[in-house]
Amino acid sequence: MNHESSCPHAGHAVKLQRQGGARSVGFKPGGGPAAAAYEERTGIKAPRIIAWEITRSCNLNCVHCRAASRYGKYEGELSLEQIKAVIDDIVTITNPIIILTGGEPLLRADIWDIIDYAREKGAMPVVGTNATLITPEIAQKLADHGIPRISVSIDFPTAKEHDDFRVMPGSFDDAIAGIKHAKAAGVGVQVNTTVTKHNADRLEEIHALAEDLNVDAFHIFMLVPTGRAAELAEQELTPERYEEVLTWAYHRQKTSPLHFKPTDAPHYYRIIRQLAAREGREVTVEEYGLDAMTRGCLGGITFCFISHVGDVQPCGYFDMQLGNVIQQPFSEIWTDSPVFNDLRDYSKLKGKCGACEFRGVCGGCRARALEATGGDYMAEEPYCSYRPMEPVSGGTDT
Ligand code: SF4
Ligand code: SF4
Repeated sequence: MNHESSCPHAGHAVKLQRQGGARSVGFKPGGGPAAAAYEERTGIKAPRIIAWEITRSCNLNCVHCRAASRYGKYEGELSLEQIKAVIDDIVTITNPIIILTGGEPLLRADIWDIIDYAREKGAMPVVGTNATLITPEIAQKLADHGIPRISVSIDFPTAKEHDDFRVMPGSFDDAIAGIKHAKAAGVGVQVNTTVTKHNADRLEEIHALAEDLNVDAFHIFMLVPTGRAAELAEQELTPERYEEVLTWAYHRQKTSPLHFKPTDAPHYYRIIRQLAAREGREVTVEEYGLDAMTRGCLGGITFCFISHVGDVQPCGYFDMQLGNVIQQPFSEIWTDSPVFNDLRDYSKLKGKCGACEFRGVCGGCRARALEATGGDYMAEEPYCSYRPMEPVSGGTDT
């Protein structure tokens, strides 16, 4: 269900400090002494955000689900004690935002213990949920356990379309009710929308719905066709349509009262710079805020994903296991995985991404490259229409 929670973004994380209310004020992911010491010792950035699929079980059956989740017990899910041990190791190198996702994380009865433990150890847990299980009581519990924000997927502006897409009658109304309960309890809400050919023309209406719901953020996620969504590859926007949607997003972002941004769309950070240049503007922190500081693809750079059985991946869509936290400490996998180290070396990017002057701020989606080539995760991003300038400039490898 929580397709979108598998590739959040640093922008989201830092914004959380401003919008999450008192519970998250001043929290700087990866800004603590453990991360500083780790970075000094290894020369590697500590993770800022970790998406953790604490269960794969889900009460919905969405067609675009990365995890192809179903309802029921999955063998090998990490126990509470195992999760606590992994948190103990994580906090030796960083103080991240931990996105508790699934499946549907609220199906896990001990989620409250996980939240409390993560907070006690200095991390900031947030929850990626379908919101259909959020009653007023659960919303209050989220608030009481210090959750500053939840993210909730809404893919269409009407109940019928959303329910058809989610293959669950009533899921739209239940999600909207859950959002309202969360807001009433003082928990911030981010609406996520997975963009496909089905709904690319409906984004303005979904934005209006998000505004009506008075949520804090609206993030559009470009479909990454892996997992159950691999069957939806033909629903992926063409590179040209992708460009149009991201151009719309650039202009819409200027007027949106929400924290509005595209995700899983690394070339958005190229488009920002191209459009700003056309307007005679520079992409500075003063003018563009966090968009000026972050990078398109952060998988393996400041972000990663832990599966329900403890497999570590650059993100939820990047279908390659780089180690397992039961067999090896997370901190070792983060430091030593050759794949992580490849992803951190932008000079290893191939094809037009390797030749692109925007590779430092974009990098292309490595999961799409992996899927499209059947294994070459450093290959060029297949859904970018940009032709890099010649000769190769070396890019801005920030
Ligand atoms: S060619 Fe690659 S690095 Fe350049 S903008 Fe496109 S996806 Fe990004
Ligand atoms: S590989 Fe793609 S889906 Fe994964 S973090 Fe990077 S941009 Fe997001």
